[in-house]
Amino acid sequence: MITLNETHDPQLTSWVTSANNGQTDFPIQNLPFAVFRRAGSSEAFRGGVAIGDQVLDLAALASTGVLDGLAQTAAQAASADKLNTLMAMGPHAWSALRAGLSRVLRTGATQQAAVQACLVPQSSVQFDVPARIGDYTDFYTSVHHATNVGRLFRPDNPLLPNYKWVPIGYHGRSSSIGVSGQQFRRPVGQTLPPGATQPSFGPCKRLDIELELGVFLGQGNALGEPIAMQDAEKHVFGLCLLNDWSARDIQAWEYQPLGPFLSKSFASTISPWLVTMEALAPYRVPFAHPPDDPQPLPYLDSADNRAAGGIDIQLSADLLTTRMRDQGAAAHRLCLTNYRHAYWTVAQMVAHHTVNGCNLNPGDMFGSGTLSGPSLEQAAALLELTVGGKQPVQLPDGEQRVFLEDGDTVTLRGWCQREGAARIGFGECVGTVLPARA
Ligand code: MN
Repeated sequence: MITLNETHDPQLTSWVTSANNGQTDFPIQNLPFAVFRRAGSSEAFRGGVAIGDQVLDLAALASTGVLDGLAQTAAQAASADKLNTLMAMGPHAWSALRAGLSRVLRTGATQQAAVQACLVPQSSVQFDVPARIGDYTDFYTSVHHATNVGRLFRPDNPLLPNYKWVPIGYHGRSSSIGVSGQQFRRPVGQTLPPGATQPSFGPCKRLDIELELGVFLGQGNALGEPIAMQDAEKHVFGLCLLNDWSARDIQAWEYQPLGPFLSKSFASTISPWLVTMEALAPYRVPFAHPPDDPQPLPYLDSADNRAAGGIDIQLSADLLTTRMRDQGAAAHRLCLTNYRHAYWTVAQMVAHHTVNGCNLNPGDMFGSGTLSGPSLEQAAALLELTVGGKQPVQLPDGEQRVFLEDGDTVTLRGWCQREGAARIGFGECVGTVLPARA
């Protein structure tokens, strides 16, 4: 477990004054990583760190010589067009780089002039997917989501008996993961209309969001060598927002017996910034299954996980329709939930994924699964918010939504806030639905 250190001090300020306004997602206590270049340029993508409304260019910084030792080696690794090399270096290197960045960005830093020359306004950059994601595994860690969805299909038996014993997951598709700003065509496919005995083929009619967190892996493990609970978080580089778009009608027809396939693989959108586990240290919370539930098997249990396996991250999803956009209206909040409601933790996902000897690689991504909380307003997918499509969401301009329509834009946000710590955030994860291919 990461302990608090000088980089978490809530009193720290930066000479980048936009980092100090108490509103930004990116105060000096956060320092999340992305890959970026100036928008519209043919520059190489390279690693950057968010500070206020700026990006600190790590390739430029590495050439200034203001960092040294492991921090400098890590900054050089982060100069590449993907962060896999930095991720593979492990937590000592990530922490050394974070400490070095914190020191040169602090108010009064003697290196200010040299570092200032490495800043690029966030408003002028474009981002890319921050790692070569070799494998993407989607978990199902919200018992509330699993119960809500299960109830729609099996009213008498909503939660299958394995749920409270096994962190359920399936192998997803990494090639169609895009970064915030992604626009994708409504998928087409086979669906079985209500009452029909044969499927029809055409555009998805029940296109949904899934508000999730993405978990980026750092150092991997050798094939055949499981990662134990007490080591699990040392293998996690950081978290981002993830919208795991889902075609519910295609899913309902295809998912048995092997699970989702084309209903998920057409697009998944992540936020550009990876918030490190070290940055998240002040917001950790105890984790426990309810006392009457099965307790985690020994390979899914540890003292650290019980003491602080959860993370208090507030999460929201907002919807902006074409009509709202044309009228200059504000987006409508669909839900507000929290990662602390998850039934399985980040460490448990890592330990479970590798317990059979499966090897993880730097840059692999997990999805947390849809992070619904216990109440309806905390439901993190339209399928749940509309109770299976029966109760449309009412929008302020008089429109309704059961599922997404063409032109709809969904924005995910996440942030952490607690007494005695700085407020930090994840930025935005924005995606837009385009009409299906004719
Ligand atoms: Mn999902």
